[in-house]
Amino acid sequence: MVDLAIDADRLFDGTDAEPLADGRLLVSEGRVEAAGTQEDLAVPDDADHRRYAGTAIPGLVDAHLHLWGARSMDPFEWLKRTDTHAAARATADLRDLLAAGFTTVRDVGSGTGLGLRDAVAEGAVPGPRVYTSGLAMSQTGGHGDSHFLPHQWVREEDPRGVSTLADGPAECRKEARKRVREGVDLVKIMTTGGVLSEKDHPRQSQMTDAEISAVVEEAHRVGIPVASHAQGTPGVKNALRNGVDTVEHGIWLDDEAVDLFHETGATLVPTLAVMHRICERGAEHGLPEYGLEKAYEAREAHFESARKAHEAGVPVALGTDFLGPELLPHGENALEAELFVEEVGMSEREAIRAGTGVAARTLPDDDVGTLTEGDHADVLVVDGDPFTDISALHDVATVFKGGEEVER
Ligand SMILES: [Zn+2]
Repeated sequence: MVDLAIDADRLFDGTDAEPLADGRLLVSEGRVEAAGTQEDLAVPDDADHRRYAGTAIPGLVDAHLHLWGARSMDPFEWLKRTDTHAAARATADLRDLLAAGFTTVRDVGSGTGLGLRDAVAEGAVPGPRVYTSGLAMSQTGGHGDSHFLPHQWVREEDPRGVSTLADGPAECRKEARKRVREGVDLVKIMTTGGVLSEKDHPRQSQMTDAEISAVVEEAHRVGIPVASHAQGTPGVKNALRNGVDTVEHGIWLDDEAVDLFHETGATLVPTLAVMHRICERGAEHGLPEYGLEKAYEAREAHFESARKAHEAGVPVALGTDFLGPELLPHGENALEAELFVEEVGMSEREAIRAGTGVAARTLPDDDVGTLTEGDHADVLVVDGDPFTDISALHDVATVFKGGEEVER
């Protein structure tokens, strides 16, 4: 029985279809009953009938962020707060994400994501639907290791950062099995160095083929995807050849890497927003010098790789790598869609698809990111027309999650 009808000047269902003028969405018990035009779909008398002048699209998906309540850009600061402090801050971040129209997020590395996911699911705190890897997995000395500290200060099982450490296929397999045991929705590994890890470089490969494939085998055996932080060309290819489902960042993609995306069906989550913000004003926000230098060096290649992948037809998903501090605050995540239009050459519709139907490809759930029959009625209504001006995604009129209007 239809209990909610949402009318808008434009309705987009997040699929390949064109947006509809004078659209109408019919919702029954939190799920989409039908999406069409006001002319074609009748509203039952007793349904809650909402009318909006703007544009209704599926609730947005951020396919790469961190729910760990960071409030500084200095990795040393991240190690000093307690998990309860981090979780309390991230609870506030979840509210901001939902208010900004992000009704689903993929947390790719945090010690707090699992508890937050469950607290949202049971209705204890407001927030988007959370899919989480729990802590990421890194090799010793890899992107997830705190290698600015003496080795004996870093506990491999509980390093207090974003990642645990595992070396050799046997340890990697066991670590993956531990993640599965914790109930993660995906597994996150790191197959290259990165910008904010002091002693490695984004171009350097990390983890061997045998280590990567051990993790992938364990995750796929239980039907969950693997995401790899992969920036340099060889590390991207190693990840793809060994079966990962998403490449995070992908800063230096060559033709062979693009071919591997096509062969494997993997999705690219470039996270341009973090690179853009760090290069624009990272220096004012306490980012360490080593991070700034690596970011400045990588920025141009990063944007170029996203363009190359998009032009070659690789699925490119919206993900920001935002993690909570003023420079990378949850709530401004639609910046990534703006960068897709301005820097990657996507049309507005392609950029909105990247944050809805395409981003949902990264999740083990078919019912988010689109508004087709049976999907969750997660809807973002904005005032203007983001199909002609992408920045209208920031002008939130209202948000529905599972057919319930979100308090903002
Ligand atoms: Zn990240």
